[in-house]
Order: sequence, then structure tokens, then C-alpha cells
Amino acid sequence: MRIIFFGAPGSGKGTQSKLIAAKYGIPQLSTGDMLRQAAKDGTEVGLLAKRAMDQGMLVSDEIIIGIIEERTKAEDCRKGYILDGFPRSLPQAKSLDETLIQNGQGLDHVIYLEIDPERVVERLTGRRVCSECGEEYHVSFKPPKNEGLCDKCEGALIQRDDDHEEKIRTRLAAYAETTEPLAEYYQNKGIIRRVKAEGEIPQITEAIEKWLQ
Ligand code: AMP
Repeated sequence: MRIIFFGAPGSGKGTQSKLIAAKYGIPQLSTGDMLRQAAKDGTEVGLLAKRAMDQGMLVSDEIIIGIIEERTKAEDCRKGYILDGFPRSLPQAKSLDETLIQNGQGLDHVIYLEIDPERVVERLTGRRVCSECGEEYHVSFKPPKNEGLCDKCEGALIQRDDDHEEKIRTRLAAYAETTEPLAEYYQNKGIIRRVKAEGEIPQITEAIEKWLQ
């Protein structure tokens, strides 16, 4: 099964795609996580990407397409995968289509997590992320048991550089301009599945799973 999780920053793509990936035993491929790791490792690509990410701008299609092409070739992707945060532009979507055609594969679902942009600001300014394992928390909606520490690995919780309000608004603008039009692209292919992304995490997971049955 090959699934795209689509939606604005803060719509819950990361949270929901991880839950679904674990349930179906397929990898969750987050381009944001891959770029942050590359930046942490100090690779050339990572440092280039970091500049755009820190400003809330999109990283170039060339870099992203290269990363995804490489990652989806891995053995663990043979049975399928979930894409979280890719594609985010028309050239990315078209490149994915080409790769899939070359491999004789298709996409099963594009899960579109729909959310009001103002809720995004509230969600993302309160988001905290484990610096060790990447687990996500929220200061009000999902606080850790011990303040500042990850429940899973006790790593320090940090606020992402791009989770400050000004950067969030830039990310939302990039989403509206470059990414949101892809909803129509996938709508025309008949594979978009709309899910209201507000409310409790388990209810949203349930709504997603209805599409996957
Ligand atoms: P995310 O963790 O998905 O919110 O992504 C964080 C940042 O990584 C984004 O704001 C972009 O700067 C960059 N990024 C992640 N995925 C992509 C993509 N598919 N295309 C361009 N930039 C991306």
C-alpha cells in the first residue's frame, strides 16, 4: 500500500502517518524528518536545506526529489510506504508519478487532513519535539509526564525553529500557494480522501482507517 498524507503544516500528518505506518507495518517517510537529520549530520544537502527550513520556505524540488527517489528504493519500501510531507509542489507530484510508472506501481490513497489555518498556529506554537527520538508533544493538548522530557526516551523536548508564529505564517503561505493546489491534482485522479483533522487524535485515526479498509 502506498499512501500520501497531505495537508497544511500542523494538520497532524506526522502524528497520524506514524500511527498508520505502525499498524500496517510499512515505513513512514517524512521529508521534514530526513532534512532535519541531514542538517543535524551537517551534510551538504542538510546545510542547504536548513537555510530554507529555518525561514519557513520550501526546500528546492531537486533536493527533495533526489532524497525521496533514493529512500523509496530501499528494501523496506517494497511492500509500500507512507509519504508524510511529500509531494509539496506540482513538479514533486509529477516526478513521483513518473517514478511509480517506471516501477509499475500506483498510489492507493491521498489522505487529505483538512484544518482551519488559525488552529494550525495554535497547534504549532505549542508543539514540542523530542530532540532524541522525534516524538511529538503539545504543551496543552498532549503534555509529557515530566515537563521538558520525552515519555518514551527521556530526551530533552525542544521547540522547532520553524514553530514560531512568524515562521508558521510563512509556512502556511507556502502551503497555500504551492502545495494546496495539489489537492485538485489528486482529486482529478480520484484518490483523494478528505478527513476533518480537528478533534481527538484517536477519532481522526479512526476516520482515516475507514478509507483504508
Ligand atoms: P515538516 O516537518 O513536514 O513540517 O517540514 C519542515 C520543513 O522541511 C518545511 O517547512 C520545508 O522547509 C522542508 N520540507 C519538507 N518536505 C518538503 C518538501 N516535500 N518540499 C519542500 N520542502 C520540504
